[in-house]
Amino acid sequence: QQPARKLRVAIMGLGSYGTRVAKAMKDCQSAELVGIVTGSPEKIPVWKKEYNIPDKNVYNYETVGQMKNNPDIDVVYVITPNSLHAKHVMQVAAAGKHVICEKPMADTAANARKMIAACEKAGVKLLIGYRLHFEPYTRKVIEMIQAGEMGKLNYIDNYQGFKIGDPTQWRLKKSLAGGGALMDVGIYCLNAARYLSNEEPIWVTAQETKTDPVKFAEVDETIQFQLGFPSGLVASCATSYNIRFERLYAQGDKGFAELSPAYGYGPIKGRTHKGPLDEPVVTHQTAQMDGMADIILNNKTIDPPVDGQEGLKDMIVLDAIYESIRKGSAKMK
Ligand code: NDP
Repeated sequence: QQPARKLRVAIMGLGSYGTRVAKAMKDCQSAELVGIVTGSPEKIPVWKKEYNIPDKNVYNYETVGQMKNNPDIDVVYVITPNSLHAKHVMQVAAAGKHVICEKPMADTAANARKMIAACEKAGVKLLIGYRLHFEPYTRKVIEMIQAGEMGKLNYIDNYQGFKIGDPTQWRLKKSLAGGGALMDVGIYCLNAARYLSNEEPIWVTAQETKTDPVKFAEVDETIQFQLGFPSGLVASCATSYNIRFERLYAQGDKGFAELSPAYGYGPIKGRTHKGPLDEPVVTHQTAQMDGMADIILNNKTIDPPVDGQEGLKDMIVLDAIYESIRKGSAKMK
């Protein structure tokens, strides 16, 4: 069902991903970019021109509260560095607007809980930018598993990483990133293990490797983690800022699914025990924003969900992975 009108979106944080989302929204059926929140005045004329944004819908991080008096914005999409998500989401909620927040939802589960509480108090919806929940190859694998086509799921092998460039960027600063590769891209492996299994892990173990202690002085470079689920399913996952790799493999009693590449902007490719997957290729952020318009305007639900609780569940496990690393493993001479 098409919404009666389009979802009117303001983007907060006009960086590299904010730009990608804005471009993708040009092709949306149900969502449109109408406003911006930025701390960089030089970006304002460029974005106003490109997206036809009126002056009254332009804000900075200090004036967000004034959005309360602007009936022409429905939702703010927070696309700022991870450790600022909590503060920014709470500012938007206080202005009475719905919020979409990028992954990772926050830097800790404690902050994720505060964000959920603030949005509940304000009576606004909180969604997390899990674009793959709207991606056809990912959805096909989820649906096949849910329909029992793989039998009982036994094992997931899952990794995502890339070689990070500029050593001065915020992703390598703990105060802005919260953590390193795990927070940034390892979260995809964790999220996939959770949505494929439809379970929450009951144990977590993890190991960290650092080959460049200078570049990765503040955040994690490479982490392997293992998740055990109530059904007996085990997920073996890895993530890195210094290895380029990307794959999701799920093995069940009756079949398997493999997506490779699995997590980037696509095209995603995949196969199962039945043969190659052939699903529609979409721009992830276009599909996501059309789907989120339906959730916000029409109260549609999606399984697996993209709400604050889903973000919190990932944050709880991320906290546990870091705790497992702090506790350490047996050292061999
Ligand atoms: P960028 O550095 O490219 O952009 C971040 C923007 O946040 C900046 O351009 C700036 O916008 C704003 N900002 C506000 N305060 C700060 C600050 N103190 N330091 C730096 N920037 C600040 O980052 P990305 O766009 O790559 O990432 C932003 C978020 O999006 C992250 O949470 C990341 O995990 C997520 N992301 C999600 C992806 C996905 O596939 N779902 C892919 C990539 C990123 P301005 O100048 O307008 O104020």
